[in-house]
Amino acid sequence: MIRVLYPGSFDPLTKGHMNIINQATDLFDEVIIAIMQNPLKNSGFFTLEERVEILKELYKDKNNIQIVTGSNATVDLALDNNCKAIIRGLRGLSDYDYEVQLQQINKDLSNNLVNTICLFADKEYQFISSTIVKEVLNLGKDISKYVDPLVQERMLIKKRRI
Ligand code: ADP
Repeated sequence: MIRVLYPGSFDPLTKGHMNIINQATDLFDEVIIAIMQNPLKNSGFFTLEERVEILKELYKDKNNIQIVTGSNATVDLALDNNCKAIIRGLRGLSDYDYEVQLQQINKDLSNNLVNTICLFADKEYQFISSTIVKEVLNLGKDISKYVDPLVQERMLIKKRRI
């Protein structure tokens, strides 16, 4: 039984993230999605609770996916949840250097217990990032190609309130 942890801020969850989640569930027995709250970065769009609600709703019928939250070291979450590896998605060279550092520190902090596996989104999703989606929304443009309809609906509601 191989369980893996997929951490991220998912603010918002994009079709790029969803593509990585689909690939991970094909490869492994269980995927724990860890929605992270970075205490140093508070300029988010959705609150942690809103992100949890969206992901729980979207994956409610998948019994090999669990949603957890975290604000401390990702590697501790991986160990606490008996995950053998952390999944990261790579969009291109711009993600690479940072991910190399991250996998090394996570190996180090876990005394080599937690490895990192990088997956690549399918071509049509590789350029999508949460930041780009927020910018496109702010320009008043259609985001339906980049996020699930539920995420789009929640983003439009939230934008009207801000
Ligand atoms: P972002 O970097 O877009 O703010 P997250 O912190 O939520 O997003 O990202 C979580 C993980 O998903 C990271 O490993 C990130 O590189 C990966 N990821 C995000 N978008 C994509 C994408 N379009 N294709 C592949 N991986 C992605």
